[in-house]
Amino acid sequence: MADSTSTPDDESTAERAEFPLDVVDGQRIVGLSPVDGQPLEVVTATSVGEIAGQIERARKAQIDWSARPIDERCEALLALRDAVLAKGDELVATLCKEGGKVEAEAWLADVLPTADVVEYWAYEGRHELLARDLELDPLSYPGKRGRTERVPRGVIGVISPWNLPVALPLRTIVPALLAGNAIVWKPSEHAARVSALLGAAIAATVPRDLVVLVQGGAAQGEAVVRGCDAIAFTGSVATGRKVAAMAAERLVPCGVELGGKDAAIVLEDADLDRAAEGIAWGAFFNAGQNCASIERVYVVEKVASQLTEKLVAVTKTLRPGKDVGALCTRRQRETVRKHVDGAVASGAEALPADAASGRGLFYPPRVLTRVPEDADVLRDETFGPVVPIVVVKDEAEAVRRANDSRYGLTASVWTKKLARGEAVAAKLEAGVVAINNHGFTGAVPAAPWSGVRESGYGVTNSPFALDLLTRPRFLLVDARRAKREMWWYPYTDGLVRVARAMATLRRRSGIVRKVRAFFSLLGGFVTRWKR
Ligand code: NAD
Repeated sequence: MADSTSTPDDESTAERAEFPLDVVDGQRIVGLSPVDGQPLEVVTATSVGEIAGQIERARKAQIDWSARPIDERCEALLALRDAVLAKGDELVATLCKEGGKVEAEAWLADVLPTADVVEYWAYEGRHELLARDLELDPLSYPGKRGRTERVPRGVIGVISPWNLPVALPLRTIVPALLAGNAIVWKPSEHAARVSALLGAAIAATVPRDLVVLVQGGAAQGEAVVRGCDAIAFTGSVATGRKVAAMAAERLVPCGVELGGKDAAIVLEDADLDRAAEGIAWGAFFNAGQNCASIERVYVVEKVASQLTEKLVAVTKTLRPGKDVGALCTRRQRETVRKHVDGAVASGAEALPADAASGRGLFYPPRVLTRVPEDADVLRDETFGPVVPIVVVKDEAEAVRRANDSRYGLTASVWTKKLARGEAVAAKLEAGVVAINNHGFTGAVPAAPWSGVRESGYGVTNSPFALDLLTRPRFLLVDARRAKREMWWYPYTDGLVRVARAMATLRRRSGIVRKVRAFFSLLGGFVTRWKR
């Protein structure tokens, strides 16, 4: 383990040997705390052979659940909220020990959002599930009425990552339950202990078998994809591709929410103090292990040195273990090191130069300047507390470079001129764009969260999320007593005359043509009904 005298980029041989890269060891999930290297409690992985049976039991539980009145389902969700919040201290302690988080973030970003997500769906979002009457044109469709409904898909497979292991799965589990689904949830193997706690809180508030917790890694994840009726996946691009391909093979709906390389654009009229504080938070929150981390800053040259100075000054104030936690996995720290070392080897500067080290898998937050355009740290997801600053000539160059990415999750524009900010935002290719802020809207359940390109096409939060969790069903009720509809057999010349006349009446054409068509239509009707 790194001691306080080691340089931030050293990885001792002992540490390399100590922290396992893979934590699923047969039927056991093992691991060490990224904070102090102490062994974590061993968790039993779900046997892959059992998962199909668990999905079947969930499918049976779903039938009764979806038949319950929505008030009852809302009540169960409110009980779920209470159970999770009541376990707050235990969840936070586990998030810190197992995931390397700092206490403030474990509360604010993982535990507390449970209240918002449940209350949004139980009080507001529920209205999105109401059936809606559809008006049908009484001339074309006499005697008929229609209704659109949202029907639960059945069993939703939720596969989640380790970086926000309470808040992220709940963003899907809560609306999926409200909509009448059962859930088979496969959390990350790197968050097995906190998931066991969360799973127990959920199980205490919903009927047996309705929410199944599957512990394990890729093999268990694949079994979930093989058996469920829809898949909500959040994780890396590489895994997302595999999951989407498997779901496509089975023709089941699938949402994939993947990585990011978020850009922040700082214009010359920005409030630089706010921008520096906001960018530091947006880049270093959760030790940078956030899909919506700021991983690229494009600042116009006029204010570049001022912004850099201020950002480095904020970075220097961050306390290891209090403001910035440890990275969760050794693999993650290797990626971060590779990106920073690669950039520095090509001429970049990492600031502050004397960044303090911390315990375990801690990596010191740093600002990178003079980064070459093709460096990995500007092109691939880093997922660590590192923020490269790129100086650009003007707004147009900032927009062009921000959009020049495989990813497009969120982005931000920093300017005091809000109308200008909105105009720039309209040009950015991302699922969420913020002006003078960054990334936090993932915790706003009414706001859609989505991405473009390799950030995936899944949507969480907001009524848009229901499209994956429910399917539309249309009900038509025909109270008409007539023997036949006009468009039924036999197909007569009169019917063809009617169709031709209607085509003329419904397109833009001269008045004479329209009048002729109208009489032809009447004639057509008469001959049609005389058949
Ligand atoms: P990951 O892809 O390694 O794992 C995600 C989940 O998939 C885990 O539960 C894992 O066990 C499971 N899995 C692994 N192989 C599988 C397979 N073959 N079939 C089915 N499931 C499988 O991702 P991670 O390292 O846990 O998470 C970090 C990534 O998640 C980052 O790229 C981050 O940007 C992304 N992320 C995206 C969002 C978003 O909203 N877009 C949110 C959080 C994290």
